[in-house]
Amino acid sequence: MSKGRQVVLATHNPHKVEEFQAIVAATRPDLEVVGYDGPEPVEDGTTFAENALIKARAAAAHTGLPALADDSGICVDVLGGSPGVFSAYWAGHAKDAAANLTLLLDQVSDIRDPHRSARFVSTIALVGPQGEEHVVEGVWPGRLARAASGAGGFGYDPIFIPDGQPDGAERTVGEWSAAEKNEASHRARAFRALAPLLTAL
Ligand code: IMP
Repeated sequence: MSKGRQVVLATHNPHKVEEFQAIVAATRPDLEVVGYDGPEPVEDGTTFAENALIKARAAAAHTGLPALADDSGICVDVLGGSPGVFSAYWAGHAKDAAANLTLLLDQVSDIRDPHRSARFVSTIALVGPQGEEHVVEGVWPGRLARAASGAGGFGYDPIFIPDGQPDGAERTVGEWSAAEKNEASHRARAFRALAPLLTAL
């Protein structure tokens, strides 16, 4: 892929755009990520992959550029993988991050620590100019905290404690720096799996 190759990022979520730009700059500095301001398709899939493809296809068709889209969420084992694809709307339709997080904590308030395992999942779809399609997934395992802490990140970050922290620390992602999150996150894991496919486009 030549220097300065453009890829359109099919998301209107400013937190995700910021994270993607940092992840791409660290992984594929030859790529220029451009924002997408075209029409937003209806995300009516029931899996992360379906929704990511819906968004990437719309952006590729609108711009003529290779398009990336991430669909992501938090999956809680004791809730059978929910909120999953409904993470953004768990407490209703308002995309209210604080209400989503409070509801989720209430739902698992009686669940003891050994059974609070959860994971962030990011599924990224890449749709090429000739209609080529690739889907990759990044999973970040951890567990739910008992209460929100930390002001970093977005969404469920203040209640997610990633596994395997140095020295057995139990910080939520809300307490991590942006650089730490962008190195370890589900989105970073998915993008690292995708990077070789971008070269082949
Ligand atoms: P989407 O924009 O439809 O993919 O919805 C993703 C939703 O999942 C967000 O609104 C958040 O609630 C949650 N989510 C996804 N990624 C993260 C993350 O990195 N941190 C915290 N919450 C996330």
